[in-house]
Amino acid sequence: MEKQWEVASHPKVWHPKSIEEAWTLKQTLCADGVFVAGGTLLRTQWENGIAPFPAHLINVSGIRACHELSFSPEVLILGSGMPLQYARENERIKRHLPLLTEALRSVAAPAVRRLATIGGNIASRLGDALPALLVYDADLIWYDGAKERREKLSDWLRLSESAKPPEARLLIRVELPLGHPPLADGETRAGEQAFQPEISVYTKVGRREGFTPSVVTIALLGRVSASGHIERLHVAAGGGQTVPLRLEAVERACRGEKLDRRLAEEVYAQVLEEFQPCGDRFASADYRKRTAANLIAAELWRACKAHDEERE
Ligand SMILES: Cc1cc2nc3c(=O)[nH]c(=O)nc-3n(C[C@H](O)[C@H](O)[C@H](O)COP(=O)(O)OP(=O)(O)OC[C@H]3O[C@@H](n4cnc5c(N)ncnc54)[C@H](O)[C@@H]3O)c2cc1C
Repeated sequence: MEKQWEVASHPKVWHPKSIEEAWTLKQTLCADGVFVAGGTLLRTQWENGIAPFPAHLINVSGIRACHELSFSPEVLILGSGMPLQYARENERIKRHLPLLTEALRSVAAPAVRRLATIGGNIASRLGDALPALLVYDADLIWYDGAKERREKLSDWLRLSESAKPPEARLLIRVELPLGHPPLADGETRAGEQAFQPEISVYTKVGRREGFTPSVVTIALLGRVSASGHIERLHVAAGGGQTVPLRLEAVERACRGEKLDRRLAEEVYAQVLEEFQPCGDRFASADYRKRTAANLIAAELWRACKAHDEERE
């Protein structure tokens, strides 16, 4: 039976103007205070009785330090308070990080995306932006009360999968390297020139075409040499209540391998072994696992054919 929570009738809403102030409020209020950004996810959790309605809301959407958007030749900085719709419409993000744009396009609808933030999507640990951010090798910058703390998104997601729940921290921004997957030795990128990987895929499978929760979401980003060998490949999968993760065994198995039908078949089997999704009343774990394996193997096969056609 679902847990029923007592609803606080008059929650107090705090509007800190700095990360330090928000942090101090959280330390003072402890479990009674919850960070809220767009409130779009929290709202559904309160309505469905998944989370208690807190006595105090700490509204982090007014903190200017969390609204940064900047590019350098090496890195894109995306503030945690950035609304999803704003990020989705940004032309430079689209040029350099098309998988992120595609991921954001798949989240809810514009009205929700105007309120919903990158930080809320990440902190939920289930957001559809996560597989794209994972293959782009994103770093998270947190505030821990004393200083900024940098952590790989993939490490944080793995940690939060473990028995110990992650401590409450304030996410300030996300940093995405722009030479992904990392540039080959000696390779450089000129100015605004966007990096064009040979494999670049984001796919969200839901139970209908649009405005749908994900059953399975995958992202792939990789480089293929002129001889048709995979130089680097980043693969992430998630969906439903499954925390998205990088499929590191699959990535290792592909590195240096010839991109061909045999590899696609091997990857299919490897994904079945490595990806451990949760089942729910909409789709079983087995269905999600096979869907992810099919999607990933099919994308590698597609990349193989594209490579062959280009060389004909
Ligand atoms: C109709 C509808 C459809 C939706 N469809 C999708 C979908 O298709 N895909 C998808 O991914 N999501 C979907 N969502 C969920 C939600 O909109 C997104 O996950 C959104 O990005 C959450 O952002 P938010 O700012 O609203 O987060 P909030 O609801 O404000 O917060 C979510 C969580 O993040 C924490 N948090 C927020 N900001 C910070 C911060 N800076 N530091 C630390 N913790 C923080 C909060 O404490 C809370 O635990 C949908 C929601 C609705 C209502």
